[in-house]
Amino acid sequence: MGKWNGLRRKPISRRPSSGQKIELARRSKLKAELIAEFGNRCMTCGSTGDWRGISLSHIIPLSRGGQTTRENCPLECFTCHDKYEKHPERREVNQ
Ligand SMILES: [Zn+2]
Repeated sequence: MGKWNGLRRKPISRRPSSGQKIELARRSKLKAELIAEFGNRCMTCGSTGDWRGISLSHIIPLSRGGQTTRENCPLECFTCHDKYEKHPERREVNQ
């Protein structure tokens, strides 16, 4: 962790805003619903049992006006989540 030594801590509270709390609650509820319905399986590549677990992804990122809904949020394995979360434009190209 030596590389963090030079960084100054921001004096801003890290407490989530109420909007973030609502978003997080909505996300965990939707994830639980999808797992109950479809199982612990990646909805993009179909893989199961990745030890890193399954995540809720956003097809249209929140930063681009996407919402946490069934239509916009597939369950994905760590690999797919990581791939598209960093490069959401790849997903748009595929559709
Ligand atoms: Zn996957």
